[in-house]
Amino acid sequence: MKEPQTLRIHDTLTDTLQPVLPADGKRVGFYCCGPTVYASAHIGNFRTFIVQDVFRRVLELSGTPVKHVRNITNVDDKTIKASQDQGQSLNEFTAYWTEKFHADCAAMNLLGPQIEPGAVEHIAEQIEMIRVLMEKGHAYRAEDGSVYFRVESFPQYGRLSKVSERELTTTTTARSEDEYDRDSLADFALWKAAKPEDGDNFWESPWGSGRPGWHLECSAMSTKYLGPGFDVHSGGIDLTFPHHENEIAQSEACTGETFARLWLHVVHLMVDGRKMSKSLGNMYTLDDLKAKGFLPAEVRYGLIAGHYRKHLNFTLPGLEAARPNLQRLARLDRQLHEAAGHPKLPKYAALCKRDNNPDALGRFAPAFASLLDNLNVPKALGETFRAAGELEKQPAAATEADYFGLRVLLEALGLELPPVEVEEAPEEIRALAEARLQARADKDFAKSDELRDEILALGWRVKDVKGGYELEPA
Ligand SMILES: [Zn+2]
Repeated sequence: MKEPQTLRIHDTLTDTLQPVLPADGKRVGFYCCGPTVYASAHIGNFRTFIVQDVFRRVLELSGTPVKHVRNITNVDDKTIKASQDQGQSLNEFTAYWTEKFHADCAAMNLLGPQIEPGAVEHIAEQIEMIRVLMEKGHAYRAEDGSVYFRVESFPQYGRLSKVSERELTTTTTARSEDEYDRDSLADFALWKAAKPEDGDNFWESPWGSGRPGWHLECSAMSTKYLGPGFDVHSGGIDLTFPHHENEIAQSEACTGETFARLWLHVVHLMVDGRKMSKSLGNMYTLDDLKAKGFLPAEVRYGLIAGHYRKHLNFTLPGLEAARPNLQRLARLDRQLHEAAGHPKLPKYAALCKRDNNPDALGRFAPAFASLLDNLNVPKALGETFRAAGELEKQPAAATEADYFGLRVLLEALGLELPPVEVEEAPEEIRALAEARLQARADKDFAKSDELRDEILALGWRVKDVKGGYELEPA
């Protein structure tokens, strides 16, 4: 029987490292706030989605199944406005951008969530939640037909983001322009009364026609698919307040149960040392980077290379390091595959069923252990290249466990390797390899080893093959 290993993550609620264990003893319920589908997601959005993908992969590969739910925000001010500008219906417009999002996810090798609910398809669930909140006295209807959550009625408000009441009033003042008449500035909309500019994008409710507030969809859909209390909720750090704080308030006030037990937040991506913004022209999408010659796998590599709890400074020259690193891993993978006697390529699902305890991962056990320790990807990559260095120097020492260890690690990071590039060795290297071939023919193995090391020191590895040798970059 396979014993699951324990992943630990930083939990925002308690500000401590916490083990990720399924409360039901079977699988981890995992909810992620998904994209708003009105344009291509940019790399800042993708950094969060890819870290969440690595989280799920590490859990599954360490023996814990995951039920992954990620919503699609397909109705809000932005989607309504943009669809109208395009002269399309909201459904037609958001379907297009949802498909584009899926294509980008597939290109960067993200596992699709098992359930991907859309807000528009869950209006009834959201109305029901508001009805309960009204009944319990946590919500009130304003004159225009909008419904607000009364923050004062939920004393635990602010626990996640550590926002005090005074801050609450000042930070929300700036947001008040787009809200309607509320009793307190801290109160937030559960239902937004229809306005003329919404066109025909409204639904009927007991409080008049309108649409749900954005925060509510995540509460309604996570409750529907994962239950009122579940294991892990995740999003970008900017969602902590007010979005996640509001989710907790409305969910717990409605169900009377603890909402998510653990909160996994991904810190912002910076581009060239600055915050991403339209005006700076640094809000790259995958298409922008593809147009600059980068492969999706290289973008993924660049987006996971930093720790999720630290600002990652994304730069184009930095991203160029991904290509040689992936090439090196591809050569190593080929080398270990050969050493293991050319086994059939193990699929992700098969690797998840395997017992990936440290003994079974060979030299890649420390790298996988780094992932279990709060998803430390930079350390895992460092350990991986350290193991790679050993195996490149001593190819004969490679074991089958090394091959499977590398496969598990690559799957945990979701790295798809490019084909090994054949590079022509320079004249000087080929001359040394010829001399080595002669030394071997002369059975002067000391000389042959010396030449092999000399070639390696110059950045090439010589391999003996039938009738000669092969050269490849080390
Ligand atoms: Zn959400």
